[in-house]
Amino acid sequence: MQITDQVPEIRRRALNDKGIDSDGEFVLYWMIAFRRPTYNFSLQRARNLALELDRPLVILEALRHGYPWACDRFHAFVLQGMADNQRAFEELPVTYYPFVETPEHPGSGLLEALAERACAVVTDDFPAFFLPRMLKAAAPRLEVMLEAVDSNGVRPMRDTDRLYSRAYDFRRYLHDRILEDARGEPLEWPEESPLEASATKLADPVELPEEIQDSWPPADSQWLAADEDRLATLPINHEIRPNPEFLGGWEAARSRMNDFMEINLDEYQDRRNKPSEAAESHLSPYLHFGHISAHRIFDAIRGREDWDSSDVDEEFRAKREGFWGMSPGPEAFVDQLLTWREIGFNRCALDPEGYDDFETLPDWAKKTLSEHEDDPRPQVYSLQEFEAADTHDELWNAAQMQLVTTGVLHNYMRMLWGKKILHWSKSPREALEIMVELNNKYAIDGRDPNSYSGIFWVLGRFDRAWGPEREVFGKIRYMTSKSTRRKFKVDPYIERYGG
Ligand SMILES: Cc1cc2nc3c(=O)[nH]c(=O)nc-3n(C[C@H](O)[C@H](O)[C@H](O)COP(=O)(O)OP(=O)(O)OC[C@H]3O[C@@H](n4cnc5c(N)ncnc54)[C@H](O)[C@@H]3O)c2cc1C
Repeated sequence: MQITDQVPEIRRRALNDKGIDSDGEFVLYWMIAFRRPTYNFSLQRARNLALELDRPLVILEALRHGYPWACDRFHAFVLQGMADNQRAFEELPVTYYPFVETPEHPGSGLLEALAERACAVVTDDFPAFFLPRMLKAAAPRLEVMLEAVDSNGVRPMRDTDRLYSRAYDFRRYLHDRILEDARGEPLEWPEESPLEASATKLADPVELPEEIQDSWPPADSQWLAADEDRLATLPINHEIRPNPEFLGGWEAARSRMNDFMEINLDEYQDRRNKPSEAAESHLSPYLHFGHISAHRIFDAIRGREDWDSSDVDEEFRAKREGFWGMSPGPEAFVDQLLTWREIGFNRCALDPEGYDDFETLPDWAKKTLSEHEDDPRPQVYSLQEFEAADTHDELWNAAQMQLVTTGVLHNYMRMLWGKKILHWSKSPREALEIMVELNNKYAIDGRDPNSYSGIFWVLGRFDRAWGPEREVFGKIRYMTSKSTRRKFKVDPYIERYGG
C-alpha cells in the first residue's frame, strides 16, 4: 500500500464535458458523502486542482431536507459531523461553507451560484440512494467541469467490470489485489490529512460574496449543535429521534474505533455473532455518512498488528480466514470491512438501475421463491403491524423496537429480523418493500449499499441454495427465533427493548 498524492484515474469520473475555467476564483469541493477532512480522495483531488491552478479551495457541505426518510435522527447525525468538520477546517487555509436547507432558504441554486465562480467542481461518487440522481441532474447545469471521485473503499469500485454475485469470488478478487501489492504493485492509498500536508502551499481562503451568503446563509452554531428547536422548523419527520448515545462526526467515529480496537477486536471472531455481547464496532453509521474511511480503519488495524502485505498467505486465497496473516479478531473483522462491505459497492456502482430491484436476485432464488409464493404463511402482517412491532414474536418485536428507538440493530438480529419479514409477509416482493422501508426509515446506517446487500441477502443474493426445502422460503436460507434463543440469552434483550 502506497500513499499517493495523485488520485488514481480509476477513482475519478467526469460527469459533464465541461473544462476547467482557469479564470475562476476558486476550486469547489461539493462534499456530499465523504464528510470528513482525512483519508478522503475527493478532498485530495480538489486540493490538487487548487494547488495546480493556484486558487483557494472552498468546501461546500450541504444538508438538504427533501430526501426520502429525512428525519431528526439523520439530520442530527450529519449536523454533528458538520460541527466537527468546521472545527477541523477552521485551522486550515480553506473556506468551509456548511449549509442547512430550510423552507426560508431552499438549497436550489446554491451549487450553480458557487460553480459560476469556480474553476472546477469536485464531488463524491457514492453509488446508492438519491445521490447518483442528484449528480446526474446537476452535471449539465454547471458551466465548468464536475468530477466525481470514489473514496468509498479500499478497492476502487470501478476497477472491475464484473458484477460479483458470490462473496467467495469477490474475496478472491480482493485477495488478488493484495497479493499484487505484496509483489510490488502497490495499492494506492489516500493521504491521511491532505490539507495539513499542503497548508503552506494553498492560496489564501476567499470570503464568499454577500449575495451568496444572504440567499444561502452558512449554518450557524445553533444549527451545528443540532438544536432541537431548529430541527423542529424543518419539514422532516420529527418522530424519529436522535440517539444521544450515537453522536455523529469523525471525532465520535475515531473514539468508537479506538474503543473497539482496545476492547473488542481481539475476540471479534468469537463474539460478533452474539447480540448480547455488543462486541461489534458500531462503525457502520460513520462509514455510511463518510465520517470515517475504510482506509483509516484498515490503517489502524495494520498499525496495531504490525502488518504489511508480505504477511499474507497465498494458500488461503479466497478463504474467509488465514489469508491476511493477522490474529483471528482482526482477520475476521477485515473480511467484514473489505469483502462484505465492498461487494455492496461493486453491486451498486455496476448495476445502478438494478441493485434495489427484486428481478436482480439470482435465478435460483427467484425460482424457489416463486415456487413457494402461494404457500400458506403461519402469520401475515402488514407494513404497519411490522412497524409497530405488533407481531406474535416478542424477540422479533424487541429487534424492531431497538431499530425504531435507537437506529441501530446488531447484525445477527438484523438477519433474523429480515428472515421473519420474508416468512410473515404476503409475498417476497412485499417483504422486500417492507424491509427497505423500515431499514431505511430508522437505521442510521440505512440507505447504503450495505443496506441493499443485507436486505437482498435475506432473499438469496450473495448466498447459495440450502436444504431442506421449506414452506415459504423454498431453498432460501432459513432462520428462526427459536434457534436464536438457543444461541444467546434473549431475555435481557427482550426486557430492554421489548416493552
Ligand atoms: C436485513 C439486513 C439489513 C442490513 N442493513 C444494513 C444497513 O442499512 N447498513 C449497513 O451498513 N449494513 C447493513 N447490514 C449489514 C450489517 O448488519 C451491518 O453492516 C453491521 O451490523 C454493522 O454493524 P457494525 O458496524 O458494528 O459491524 P461490524 O461487525 O463491526 O463490521 C464492521 C463493518 O463491516 C461491514 N459489515 C459487517 N457485516 C456486514 C454485512 N453482513 N454485510 C455488509 N457489510 C458488513 C460494515 O461496513 C461494518 O460497519 C444489514 C444486514 C441485514 C441482514
